[in-house]
Amino acid sequence: MPLPAAHAAAGVSIVLLAMGPVTRRALPWLVAGGALAGTLPDMAVWMPEMVQRGSHSLFLAVTLWSFAVLLGQRWSTRLPEVLAMALISHIVLDFLFTQYGKGAALLWPITSTRYRLGWMGLPENLTWYNWTHYWDWIGLELLLFMLPAIWLVIWRWQQAAWQGEMGRK
Ligand SMILES: [Zn+2]
Repeated sequence: MPLPAAHAAAGVSIVLLAMGPVTRRALPWLVAGGALAGTLPDMAVWMPEMVQRGSHSLFLAVTLWSFAVLLGQRWSTRLPEVLAMALISHIVLDFLFTQYGKGAALLWPITSTRYRLGWMGLPENLTWYNWTHYWDWIGLELLLFMLPAIWLVIWRWQQAAWQGEMGRK
């Protein structure tokens, strides 16, 4: 499973990519929203088993996304849809990048079976006594997810400044 920081960064990237140009005032809120939506499913860890499975259900997430699209149409904003996409990214990343462990219950409540690709990534339960083994992957993960997110924040910030200037002329 990717680190919470990687999940948060992926959420931020998706929101900033999908929202299109934004104002500088909205940018911090979008970053916070993307980071929160990207990490939300893992915040259920201390909740009952059912909530944990449900929070990683692709089936539920797509249902949520459909409602978000409808809500967005009503409010004429892409924000709900984009936040739902950030949440879906969490589930997809857990499936792709969990090497050992049970994985995500993608099809809950139809089945409680947990799925993971298992080809690379961190194990579900990190055993800290041999965490030097994880360093390479942790470094790669931060690079893969944090760099695009940081770049997107800077890009959107500068784009907003440029647009602001054009607006004043
Ligand atoms: Zn997760």
